Amino acid sequence: MTEYENAPGDSTRSVHAGRPEARPHEPALPGPVFAAHFHLPGDVTGPYTYGRDENPTWTRLEEAISALESPGTDAETLVFSSGMGAIASVLLSQVSTGDTVVLPSDCYQATRSLRGRLEEYGVAVRLAPTAGDAQAEVLQGAKLLWIETPSNPGLDVCDIRRLADAAHAAGALVAVDNTLATPLGQRPLDLGADFSVASGTKALSGHGDLLLGYVTTRRPELAAQVRLWRKTVGAIPGPMEAWLAHRSLSTLALRVDRQAANALALTTALLERPEVTDVRHPGHPEDPAHTVAAAQMARFGSVVSFTLPDKAHAERFLSALLLTTEATSFGSVTSTAERRARWGGDAVPEGFVRFSVGVEDAADIVRDVLHALDTAK
Ligand SMILES: *Cc1c(COP(=O)(O)O)cnc(C)c1O
Repeated sequence: MTEYENAPGDSTRSVHAGRPEARPHEPALPGPVFAAHFHLPGDVTGPYTYGRDENPTWTRLEEAISALESPGTDAETLVFSSGMGAIASVLLSQVSTGDTVVLPSDCYQATRSLRGRLEEYGVAVRLAPTAGDAQAEVLQGAKLLWIETPSNPGLDVCDIRRLADAAHAAGALVAVDNTLATPLGQRPLDLGADFSVASGTKALSGHGDLLLGYVTTRRPELAAQVRLWRKTVGAIPGPMEAWLAHRSLSTLALRVDRQAANALALTTALLERPEVTDVRHPGHPEDPAHTVAAAQMARFGSVVSFTLPDKAHAERFLSALLLTTEATSFGSVTSTAERRARWGGDAVPEGFVRFSVGVEDAADIVRDVLHALDTAK
């Protein structure tokens, strides 16, 4: 990156991040290093000793994610086997018996499902919704504030800077789940968070072919605690997954820009349909979250959510889609959609659809959706 001292743009950074300096006869991105152990004579010295501690393929990906989440700083990133590996490692490495954690009441349901385990460990858990910065009201005496914005699946948005300032004033650490936005959509550490945490399974890697998670922080003591937790529980990514994710980063800016444009086109088309209610996408000027979102986000993600009259109507719609496949997850190059209530656990109506636009042509996605809506009537 030495030739890019003058604050390179997002595309340039996502293409070059974490790649080694060009050396004659070496590849641009060295392949995955498959090693359970490394040659290690005599005393134990780093960087590479045992495969659960460190791996050179992770190191390059970690440097790349740091360059996207927190350019121009000494931030450290740790990659994990999944988003939940990263989330659980931050929560469980930071709190102990007697502490209080504030979680969003409307966040990704597997994050909320840690509540029971935390309570069994003697950690008090308070829940408040993302919208309206309601978590600010329950910070008294908390050790950690967990934010997810935009929230999955409801797409509500909170003011990260405002909540981070309030949490720090109350003596709490702040972690932000940055999965939906990606680091090219928002940079939580610049907005005051102590941790930016995400699932790399979604838009970051973007091809629906791997699971990955990461944690980025500028505070070395916090990084050391999370690193030790990763080593202790062994929530480590395979070198192949890490390498594929790194390779995919080169197209991150292209993908998220296209998805943002497609999401806007789809939102605009859905707003015209009388049978479709509660259309949400934070990038749309009419969305209730748009003002807060636009103040802290550069791009608004691939997800559009909306509600059809009932379960049967939503199922007819999903099975009438031709281009878009029915699948969970989001952020992939292919458009996917699902009836979220089929999983249980989220406070959404039976006809609620979470739609993730891919990088197909906007006209084709919109045509597919309008055709399926007509068929489902
Ligand atoms: C998917 C998701 C996760 C969990 O990530 P995995 O890689 O599936 O473990 C966490 N947070 C959000 C917001 C998600 O969408």
